[in-house]
Amino acid sequence: MFHHFHGSKHLPSQGSLSADDFSDMLDWLQNKYNLIGANEYLHKFETSNLADRDICLSFDDALLCQYDIALPILEKRRLDAFFFVYSSVFTGTPDNLEVFRYFRTNKFTDIEDFYSQFFELYEIKFQDRIGEHRTRCVNIGYLSAWPIYTENDRLFRFLRNEILGVERYEELMLHFMKIKVFSPAAIINDLWMSEVHLRQLSNLGHLVGLHSYTHPVQMSKLSHREQLLEYRKNLEHLTPIVGDIICMSHPCGDYNEDTIKILGDLGLKIGFRSNTAISTINSKFEIPREDHANIYKEMNS
Ligand SMILES: [Zn+2]
Repeated sequence: MFHHFHGSKHLPSQGSLSADDFSDMLDWLQNKYNLIGANEYLHKFETSNLADRDICLSFDDALLCQYDIALPILEKRRLDAFFFVYSSVFTGTPDNLEVFRYFRTNKFTDIEDFYSQFFELYEIKFQDRIGEHRTRCVNIGYLSAWPIYTENDRLFRFLRNEILGVERYEELMLHFMKIKVFSPAAIINDLWMSEVHLRQLSNLGHLVGLHSYTHPVQMSKLSHREQLLEYRKNLEHLTPIVGDIICMSHPCGDYNEDTIKILGDLGLKIGFRSNTAISTINSKFEIPREDHANIYKEMNS
């Protein structure tokens, strides 16, 4: 599972890969596993011929850096991949989380600088102490399925997902960006692909799939109806651009039984999780994925 790449106009961000990193990773994976294209993977999966060593590549969130940096390498190797796309960014309302990520990785000395200013702003705005949350976060082993995260990475995500919730988190971040004189509108075209890029991916034989309409952080907290709208609107947006869609991945790896049923009802054939916390394939919409950051770490250990 790949997200961010850097090179030319795309600045390095937390966990991003250069073109050389990506090439080295593909070599490393090819040595260790049987690296196959997305179409072949799907075919083997559907005919129950998938071997333990078979792996394929997937790219989430329609980031332009994937098109600019990773795609030329895929094409050179004649390797097709899955690209999972959420729609709201194409209608001018991108996922704020990605904008916030850009903000926090480009407007501060480093990520720790961002965290210390963020925690300080949180304490002031919400009149709440950080210390207790930090202890709780450690005690419950928050996000322990992602070994790449530091203590502050976990605390930040804990505050965002469990304490603040979407609306208050966004309110805090918008306030933070205002203080820092940062304009999201100026970066949208630099961060995401356009529909032309999506069509090109499809024409080249890559499999473009669903990733919800607005990229909710916690899909499982939405009602059946809200989840259905997320995936149906996503499907209605992408089908005219890339044709029939049969694959998907869960935004932030979050889903419940309603999600699984909806995906089946929409006629999808394969779906991916966003970690390897469950290493077996429990249903056709729960295939585990390894984050590229974990592979990078394993390669360099
Ligand atoms: Zn995503």
